[in-house]
Amino acid sequence: PSAVVKKLFMQGKVVTINQEIDFETAEEIALEFNCICEHEEVIDVIAELLKEEEEAADTLVTRPPVVCVMGHVDHGKTSLLDAIRETHVTSKESGGITQKIGAYRVDVNGNTITFLDTPGHEAFTAMRMRGAQATDIAILVVAADDGVMPQTIEAINHAKAANVEIIVAVNKIDKPNANIEKVKQELTEYGLIAEDWGGSTIFCPVSAHTKEGIDNLLEMILLTAEIIELKANPNRKARGIVIEAELDKGRGPVATVLVQKGTLRVGDSVAAGSCYGKVRAMIDDTGRRVKEAGPSTPVEIQGLNDVPNAGEIIMAMDSDKEARNVAETFIAENKKKLLDDTKHKVSLDALFEQ
Ligand code: GDP
Ligand code: MG
Repeated sequence: PSAVVKKLFMQGKVVTINQEIDFETAEEIALEFNCICEHEEVIDVIAELLKEEEEAADTLVTRPPVVCVMGHVDHGKTSLLDAIRETHVTSKESGGITQKIGAYRVDVNGNTITFLDTPGHEAFTAMRMRGAQATDIAILVVAADDGVMPQTIEAINHAKAANVEIIVAVNKIDKPNANIEKVKQELTEYGLIAEDWGGSTIFCPVSAHTKEGIDNLLEMILLTAEIIELKANPNRKARGIVIEAELDKGRGPVATVLVQKGTLRVGDSVAAGSCYGKVRAMIDDTGRRVKEAGPSTPVEIQGLNDVPNAGEIIMAMDSDKEARNVAETFIAENKKKLLDDTKHKVSLDALFEQ
């Protein structure tokens, strides 16, 4: 308990030993201390059910990189995502629904980059719990006038644990007290060493305000993507990840899904965690209705029977019946696990007495 209290204190949250904390915080702590395993076991069962065949090399096609933005609060994550969106998103098609989905694509000289809107570490925790991963490249945003802060370090740890490439965006270089070299120096301590300091980490000085350096950052993302050779087979049943989901008053459960493999089509039967359904409609990140979505494409789908959790794996199945079976297996396994857990429950008090 003292380690937990200390960790929260380092984040600026003062708590006592028997205080209730919110789910997200608890989740993050549990991950940090490696306490979460229940979902992995459920995933094992599902994985067994749907054994993934190794994809033959000749079926694989280059796919766009999926990128998230991480970093300390107020260092400019949202501003940077907005700046990129403003400068590079192809203009909205007329007739498109004006609506933000949880991810967007940008076009850079004919190449696509997919950005997740979810702050990186939230996406990571939710997904890691489910043994899934959505991101290929993490942009670590560090304000040039503030330097490395506690959540910068957390972000680095998350990205390293998830084994994603890190590109550092040194933001707010328009500020008079910006000090890019200081950021480089501070990050050497965490194994992120700039090329001009003898290392191999890409550092991009940017300003979300003046937009300086944004094009260079995008180019560096594409360069990194090329090096890590991202590929997927578009000609198979779709498999992806739920980025976010909610109950819409008019449309029922809607989920933003990132397709990772295969192609998702309107009419497909899908299972996502404990939910299932038939894809009734899909809209893309420009609000346009689309009939299909290939690898690295974010789409919002309608037609699930319920709201799935963010981070859940979504899979296209051969039939409605199969989709429903998978969802029901997921529910049954979850219940079984819960019962087992209750049997072995140790009281927190007993733990604290040790
Ligand atoms: P987040 O918490 O990381 O999402 O940070 P925000 O994007 O909300 O930015 C925090 C504050 O920093 C806001 O007041 C922004 O206007 C400001 N900010 C963000 N980027 C820049 C920048 O490039 N230059 C300057 N001068 N301010 C910035
Ligand atoms: Mg923000």
